[in-house]
Amino acid sequence: MSTEMSMGGTVADGPRGTDPADGLLAALRAAVGPAHLLVDAGARAAYETDWTGRFAGTALAVVRPAGTDEVVAVLRACAAHATPVVPRGGGTGLVGGAVPLGGEVVLSLERLDHVGPVDVAGGSVVVGAGATLAAVDRSAADHGLAVGVDLASRDSATIGGMVATDAGGVRVIAHGPMRRQVLGLEAVLADGSVLRRIPGLAKDGTGYALPELLAGSEGTLAVVTAVHLRLVPRPVATTVLLLGCADVADALGRVAAARRAGTVLAAELVRDRGVRMVHQHAGVPLPLPEPLPPLLLLLELDGDPDRAGRADALAALVGDRPAAIAADVADARRLWAVRERHTEAVQRLGTPTKLDVTVPPAAMAEVLAEVDRIAPDAVVFGHIGDASLHVNLLDAPPGLDEQVLRLVAAHGGSIAAEHGIGVAKAHLVHLTRDDADVAAMRAVKRALDPTGLLNPGKVLPPDPPGS
Ligand SMILES: Cc1cc2nc3c(=O)[nH]c(=O)nc-3n(C[C@H](O)[C@H](O)[C@H](O)COP(=O)(O)OP(=O)(O)OC[C@H]3O[C@@H](n4cnc5c(N)ncnc54)[C@H](O)[C@@H]3O)c2cc1C
Repeated sequence: MSTEMSMGGTVADGPRGTDPADGLLAALRAAVGPAHLLVDAGARAAYETDWTGRFAGTALAVVRPAGTDEVVAVLRACAAHATPVVPRGGGTGLVGGAVPLGGEVVLSLERLDHVGPVDVAGGSVVVGAGATLAAVDRSAADHGLAVGVDLASRDSATIGGMVATDAGGVRVIAHGPMRRQVLGLEAVLADGSVLRRIPGLAKDGTGYALPELLAGSEGTLAVVTAVHLRLVPRPVATTVLLLGCADVADALGRVAAARRAGTVLAAELVRDRGVRMVHQHAGVPLPLPEPLPPLLLLLELDGDPDRAGRADALAALVGDRPAAIAADVADARRLWAVRERHTEAVQRLGTPTKLDVTVPPAAMAEVLAEVDRIAPDAVVFGHIGDASLHVNLLDAPPGLDEQVLRLVAAHGGSIAAEHGIGVAKAHLVHLTRDDADVAAMRAVKRALDPTGLLNPGKVLPPDPPGS
């Protein structure tokens, strides 16, 4: 049997005269039961593409195990038949990480969706990797708690996928990204051994922080099967406002002022043309009268608008800028829709190339101006609270994405703020990671997955010729 996985999904060692895939399919059927092995093209299709439709491939089969033991059995069967595995959560990733490249087995975690009892005193919960963010957050809400990360894809994105991508979202300014919410996790390594770090502890310095290593590994180092999540206090009431800003410096200044005045739960940036796009293509009312200011800053602050002293604080924050302040929950939802429905509205215009970048705050104005110059039709919005921007390119000529990412790298930014690298940017990792860094990542990959069973072609740049 070959020791390296075949990207074409060749199945080794089949008996003479039979399809070599038959042995693997039989083993997978035994592992998960016939109802949860999908081999027909129609049944596989939903697992072979991503949310944007930009990435698609063909899998040998899709398996839907029901628990950790079945995940172990699937990985052992695939290893024995030298067939690579693509772990998959909700399929909302935006960089093609959960999409097969050709012939792999897609391992869907969707049936590992249990949500354990909330530990109210400790502020945590243990959940299956396939539980959606919305389901876990609903359970936490019953106890006045919340998941510290929130995304517009909350109804489909899974906790396992969010850990695997180290998801960010709109609450990073308050609680940090997904890896900060992980107290512990359970994961199956490529050789079928199970890493058990549940329950996790708030402090545990016993050796390497393996759960942290797996956060952001995009299914290339292990299959996450369960997560012990830290929960955060759920705000009893919040104040949501949308503020017109003259330029980036003005917007950054308002974020800093809001942080000095209290807890900022979200700070999001949209632009006038993006707001018009959301109005036109997603039916969201314009939040301010025309002419819209060039930049609009959405702030969500802890505490309701009627709390003592808030009116004065808000007046100071707003100054003479145009602003809409939500009077009630429905109003707040309307203002949030202006930001959250950008992704959906962009999608209606075509299949976008979605870039998520972090830009040092001091360079943000210059980067934005240069993006406008090289990609005048780009739709840019994002999480200004943590200096990350989404650059959506529509009908982009070949190479434009790389041009934007080179620009970001040249200004000391990151080419992968929160969506991960996936297949989309694996060839561009060198833009912000030097040779020593890439060599260390390859060494980690080799140590945990020596045969390249897990998600080949994702995250790491292709091997240099002759290696
Ligand atoms: C409308 C919309 C808004 C979004 N907003 C944001 C945002 O604000 N911030 C943000 O960070 N992202 C955002 N995303 C992207 C996406 O929702 C996140 O990347 C999310 O974390 C993916 O979760 P998933 O379960 O869908 O994972 P998938 O898309 O299924 O997989 C993503 C990656 O994780 C791996 N993976 C999945 N599950 C596991 C597992 N159990 N073990 C090991 N590897 C696994 C896959 O192999 C793949 O590489 C948005 C997406 C959409 C569609």
